[in-house]
Amino acid sequence: MRPTDHTLKGALDALAAGETTSVALTEAFLDAIGRLNPRLNAFITVTGEKALEAAKASDARRAAGKAGLLEGAPLAIKDLFCTAGVQTTAGSRILGGFIPPYESTVTANLLRDGAVFLGKVNLDEFAMGSSNTTSASGPVENPWSRANDPDTRLVPGGSSGGSAAAVAARLALGATATDTGGSIRQPAAFCGIAGIKPTYGRCSRFGIVAFASSLDQAGPVARTVEDCAILLKSMAGFDPKDATSADLPVPDFAAACGRSVKGLRIGVPKEYRLDGMAPEIEALWQQGLQWLRDQGAETVEISLPHTKYALPTYYIVAPAEASSNLARYDGVRFGLRETAQGSDLRDLYERTRAKGFGQEVRRRIMIGTYVLSAGYYDAYYLKAQKVRALIRRDFEQAWGKVDAIVTPATPSAAFGIEERQDDPITMYLNDVFTVTANLAGLPGLAVPAGLDPQGLPLGLQVIGKPFDEETCFAVGAAIERAAGFTALPRLRA
Ligand code: GLN
Repeated sequence: MRPTDHTLKGALDALAAGETTSVALTEAFLDAIGRLNPRLNAFITVTGEKALEAAKASDARRAAGKAGLLEGAPLAIKDLFCTAGVQTTAGSRILGGFIPPYESTVTANLLRDGAVFLGKVNLDEFAMGSSNTTSASGPVENPWSRANDPDTRLVPGGSSGGSAAAVAARLALGATATDTGGSIRQPAAFCGIAGIKPTYGRCSRFGIVAFASSLDQAGPVARTVEDCAILLKSMAGFDPKDATSADLPVPDFAAACGRSVKGLRIGVPKEYRLDGMAPEIEALWQQGLQWLRDQGAETVEISLPHTKYALPTYYIVAPAEASSNLARYDGVRFGLRETAQGSDLRDLYERTRAKGFGQEVRRRIMIGTYVLSAGYYDAYYLKAQKVRALIRRDFEQAWGKVDAIVTPATPSAAFGIEERQDDPITMYLNDVFTVTANLAGLPGLAVPAGLDPQGLPLGLQVIGKPFDEETCFAVGAAIERAAGFTALPRLRA
């Protein structure tokens, strides 16, 4: 077995058994990145020397009997997490050259547990997108391709496209990601890997470049559900530096992956059966429910009546918060500064922001400032907040009847890098199954469950009660076991 073929769990076991070293693993992944990244563009920054030093230190800790939970495991970090001394761009020109003096809490937790960082991975600019085509560092290519059309380059999904592509192509054992409306689950589904957006408040947002603060959550993507569980255990936990961080113990998520689903009631929301839904998506969903029934779960039809308002609500709330969060990029404090002879402060702001932000980010800032402006605030923003409360209430009522909810993760498989670029609304439809969990603050896990007629991966989503990621892991692992998903992308180490 080649070192890059390991799952995270497999690699940690091999390290513990002395069958490999962190240096050997890190070298293998750096070599794979060197070969494949010029094509995939998953990494924006590769920190090879730093990674090898960290791997050496990790091997020494292990030899001294001081191995942490993730001791020696090479990971990729979404370039939205601030990493001390390492450029953090958020996929934007406006942060070009920004080197944070501090570490995000999530990445600090991973380092505390012995992880080795290979570098920073690509994303849609400020995590706005579903295709990883809005990055100032260029698009990421999905390592998968259509069986009958191998030359069309496909998107890896977004915004965590670099994270998902890197893991799927075996350029890292796992990766950090973030999800504001689907950015962990949709790219995981497009790349045939697992990913979980935990409950809002489970992971600290400190040191993560903010997009929409009431929706943003960090989480892992990895090859298997269990690997996600291992990573989330390390990433999660109370942080006094984030006022919305939950002061709750972090359960043993990996143990939950082995729990039986017998007797669990699985909700099937009828509003997620969209008009004109692709037959393979419907078939996958029915298959997933059957797998769960075969393992002793009961499936129950439920109603989440406000689902149809979720996407429009999200596209008011998220841009509103983004317009406020992105006001800080003024050419004075971070990264890019565009100025001209005799220019005043206002001119500095305008030049910097015009040059630094890409088209999608500008669109969001304009929508956001519009819906927050006097005269429109009540009609749009306040209304959206009220609908958000109704969406949350739909779920609260459902939890009286079911323990988890299973839906498709995305309405389609990965599409071409050139496709769906002309109409932002078509792009926004990617999130139709995922945004509800962000609006309600609930955990959502994506698990690869099958292939479409073109041989591309498709995923299912498990939504759980607040802070009940354990049930998501149990149900997700049950689907994973039944699916026996072993297909591999064409481009991989
Ligand atoms: N695709 C959604 C958007 O563009 C969600 C992005 C995300 O979850 N960060 O806003």
